[in-house]
Amino acid sequence: MNERIVILGAGESGTGAALLAKVKTFDVFVSDQAAIKEKYKAELTYYNIAFEEGQHTAEKILNAKLIIKSPGIPEQSEIIRKINASGIPVVDEIEFASRYTTGKIIAITGTNGKTTTTLLTFHLMKVAGFDVALAGNVGFSMARQLVQKQFDWFVLEVSSFQLDGTKTFKPQIAVLLNVTPDHLDRYDYSMQNYTDSKFKVIQNMGADQHFIYYEDDSIIADEVSRRTLVPKRIPVSLRPSSTAPVHFDGEQMCFQLGEPFKIAQSDTTLTGPHNLINTMAAVSAVYTAGVPLDSIRSGLKSFKNAPHRLESVAIINGVEFVNDSKATNIDSVAYALRSFDKPLVWIAGGIDKGNDYSIIMDDVKRKVKALICLGKNNEKLKKSFGAVLKQIDETQNMKEVVHKALLVAEPGDVVLLSPACASFDLFKNYEDRGDQFKRAVLALKDQVEGVHT
Ligand code: ADP
Repeated sequence: MNERIVILGAGESGTGAALLAKVKTFDVFVSDQAAIKEKYKAELTYYNIAFEEGQHTAEKILNAKLIIKSPGIPEQSEIIRKINASGIPVVDEIEFASRYTTGKIIAITGTNGKTTTTLLTFHLMKVAGFDVALAGNVGFSMARQLVQKQFDWFVLEVSSFQLDGTKTFKPQIAVLLNVTPDHLDRYDYSMQNYTDSKFKVIQNMGADQHFIYYEDDSIIADEVSRRTLVPKRIPVSLRPSSTAPVHFDGEQMCFQLGEPFKIAQSDTTLTGPHNLINTMAAVSAVYTAGVPLDSIRSGLKSFKNAPHRLESVAIINGVEFVNDSKATNIDSVAYALRSFDKPLVWIAGGIDKGNDYSIIMDDVKRKVKALICLGKNNEKLKKSFGAVLKQIDETQNMKEVVHKALLVAEPGDVVLLSPACASFDLFKNYEDRGDQFKRAVLALKDQVEGVHT
């Protein structure tokens, strides 16, 4: 009898894991508590993989040799408690897939900036002609891609939930961008637990491998000083006074990873201080992986970031509208505010995940001329900023929000949607919120400029 693998959760990673497990001749069963998307059901059926949906049948799960769990399923769920009690090992899809790759892995983690840095790293390797795949939290799962072929390199965006399910996962290069409070409900509200989870990315790395981290982050700096780190360190810093081999000197990003070189942010397509960190991390990773400098320079010029991250949408009457819908926590908003020198009309609100607004109070005082709240319950925002902002308005309608914003903005100002909150009160997700914002802005532009489509 072939060994039985049970996969919990049939999303992209679960379905990919099922296909890879099947190809590796395991006896595979997939179980999803919710309905499985038609496209994934069709694939499971095509590959002759047994599955159930709308339930987890314990007898069909607890007879497995290995469980591959979707990162979305919390440890506290009933089925995971039963599995843990039975002693069956539980791993994540990236752990399982990485056991079958002959290629090297660049793993990118952090609270914020993962997607941007992962996409940039992948892009820089791709334009250099490397045989590289993009996976993890973005695009197709690693397991699914391994069903098709082997790659020399994988660039993976990895979340703390995925790292929780790793045991032997061993990247060639690991990047840790920052550790700030988020998802603490999954970590017993302990920042240390969350930090430990992020540091799992380096747990198996050897002395010939590289750990790139942002040293200005006090949690990371503290952790690094307390731990014995095996991989070679590449600290990255924004401070001109830093002695880190990769730092920003106030004008350019400086790299001392061999022959020294410098890159100006104006020679990249990304803006804002947070993107200096992301760019320094990505460039360090690909340079270490062997991408030549001239190729890095041209790749930085042709990179196009994913939408909803400080995305410039349109200019109406001299007012720029920027979509940063992905900013669902306070740290990303802090960076968004610091990315602009111009006066801001700030649109924020939604489901507050426990924000401490004092972190951004100074920047708000200096830069924000008006706040328009866009959430079902805006009391906390209104209360937090009532004393420092003269103009605070609110609405639950996207069309109205952009109209109101244009009314208070003057030429040269920026209207910034950077919500600091999750979107589920009024929208399906952050993409839906950002898409609705973009549509409303473009419709307003047509209206103002008299274009009829
Ligand atoms: P993630 O995949 O980790 O959520 P994204 O690249 O999608 O990261 O960016 C999420 C949000 O965080 C965006 O609003 C972006 O502007 C902001 N951000 C990006 N990089 C950083 C960083 N290094 N530090 C803090 N905030 C960042």
